[in-house]
Amino acid sequence: MIGAVDIGGTKIAVGMVSGSGKVLAKIESPTDTHLGYSNGLERIAEMLREAAKEATVEISGVGIGSTGPLDALTGEFGDVDFLAGWAGKNLVHDLERIFDVPVAIENDADAAALGEATWGAGKKKSRLVYVTIGTGIGGGIVVNGQVYRGVDGSHPEIGHHVVDSSGPLCSCGFRGCWEALAAGPAMVQWVHSQAPNNFPHRHGLTARRICELAREGDALAGLAVKREAYYLGLGIANLMNVLSPDAIVLGGSVMKSSSLFLDGIHDTIRQGCRFVPFTRMEVSLASLGEDANLIGAAMVWHHRFGDRIPHVS
Ligand SMILES: [Zn+2]
Repeated sequence: MIGAVDIGGTKIAVGMVSGSGKVLAKIESPTDTHLGYSNGLERIAEMLREAAKEATVEISGVGIGSTGPLDALTGEFGDVDFLAGWAGKNLVHDLERIFDVPVAIENDADAAALGEATWGAGKKKSRLVYVTIGTGIGGGIVVNGQVYRGVDGSHPEIGHHVVDSSGPLCSCGFRGCWEALAAGPAMVQWVHSQAPNNFPHRHGLTARRICELAREGDALAGLAVKREAYYLGLGIANLMNVLSPDAIVLGGSVMKSSSLFLDGIHDTIRQGCRFVPFTRMEVSLASLGEDANLIGAAMVWHHRFGDRIPHVS
């Protein structure tokens, strides 16, 4: 039984996950980074103990998926925007000391990619790209069951490939990154920039609300959805041209409205992927649902210490 820990900017979720990817007990707590790292560590340890008690199991290992940057191989946190004061701390070493079991950590997108590759929409795909589209765009690449790592074990940032260099300024320093054009906040920003003064839906506008308005026939929301599908398609087409994977699995909160975007995504891919066999590259939706991150975190442990995902050619 693997203790799974999912650390995000707003909440920390902990669960017990069986060897077949089933979540048996789940506890959540606000991230509350202002309370400091030691407090976070204590809460995570306590939640793991509680979840194990609730599921009446012994913890045989702990897998962690966390917002990054972090060094997956040493376990050390980098300078994480959402986790002020956690830089240089090592949750892997600390949980190993507390529970005396092997512990592994990955960037949360890599964790979710591993979960989908093993138990979800990417099952039996040798070359898989998982993309999460929400408040940002992140992703993980899994090749023959192994997380693709860059130099020094680094995690590639696929949300920061430039799609339109005259586009909006991105947090990374470039303009027009995929994330700056197609993450949820980009939809909101664009609608605000285009809306007439008497636009009645300005207040508290979200990507989800824009999708609802588009379904209700609002013309501006409809254009925003069309634009979103185009930019999602461009980014996916770039991944296809660069990597030619077997499958691209799409997750994240924006993809809850995927039915509005899929036709536009495929239209865009058809426009410019003719030098790669794009019709053989599956574009599918993440299938592990609400618990995807916890299941992915458990898979982080199996990926590092347990049975590897069987090679599929
Ligand atoms: Zn960027």
